[in-house]
Amino acid sequence: MTPPVLRTRADLRAATRPWQRAGERIGVVPTMGALHDGHLSLVGAAKATCDRVVATIFVNPKQFNNASDLEKYPRDEATDAGRLERFAVDVLYVPHPEEMYPDSFATGVSVAGLTDVMEGTHRPGHFDGVTTVVTKLFLQTSATDAFFGEKDFQQLQVVRRMAADLDIPVTVHGCPTIREIDGLAMSSRNLLLSDRARTAAPRLHEEMESIAEGVSQGADFSTLRARAVTRLQAAGFTQIDYLEIRANDDLALLDRPTRPARLFAAAWLAGVRLIDNIAV
Ligand code: AMP
Repeated sequence: MTPPVLRTRADLRAATRPWQRAGERIGVVPTMGALHDGHLSLVGAAKATCDRVVATIFVNPKQFNNASDLEKYPRDEATDAGRLERFAVDVLYVPHPEEMYPDSFATGVSVAGLTDVMEGTHRPGHFDGVTTVVTKLFLQTSATDAFFGEKDFQQLQVVRRMAADLDIPVTVHGCPTIREIDGLAMSSRNLLLSDRARTAAPRLHEEMESIAEGVSQGADFSTLRARAVTRLQAAGFTQIDYLEIRANDDLALLDRPTRPARLFAAAWLAGVRLIDNIAV
């Protein structure tokens, strides 16, 4: 059976109140839909950890810094509901934009520091949109636990900071990146790739793995990086927004992984922006 779809805060509250009263653990999995196995792995983790699971689908206009990106974003609620079927989630919450942002809406949640780099620099306003909607989803669902993907590692750290700073009593769980067989990180945006671009797309992860291996053997990162950029350009990538090593906790830029760190990348291929990150 497909999960019950709720569209208003009032209906959601009516569903969650008895769970809350019973002291149950309520897991929320926020998504923008076009669900793939990456999203479903978060749902699986939530089911394994919590008594109740609320999956949410909301293509959040506030986190798009580009109107055509918002317009092109893939939407298919019926297919998404079908994909959730085998997980038996308790509720699929799909609010309308007016339910989330009525005309009078005037408040924003903003995290400093962690948002000054990478996605924050290249997508102005993006993280304010994310933290604002995630705060609302945490409060609306009465979640005790929330599940986010390491695919968006910076977002995961920003959400953790936000929940801690605002004393929101939600445990934020980070889940590993799920990949296609050829290494490409699963993403709703992969649906926008042409056949030709889809063939070239796994090169990003391949080059990242090769950098990670070189770094682990003590090679110089900037040399490895320059070689990877040349190869990616030859494979059809038009612009590399960033390709850098940063510390896991504060996202400080490193020239070698002297503490727990990841290699982060964002690059454009045939008009689609791909992001990825791996441990180094
Ligand atoms: P999105 O629908 O792209 O906003 O993603 C919703 C959630 O799914 C976020 O927490 C993402 O980090 C997570 N996610 C997206 N792609 C993947 C993936 N390939 N593996 C694991 N989690 C993912």
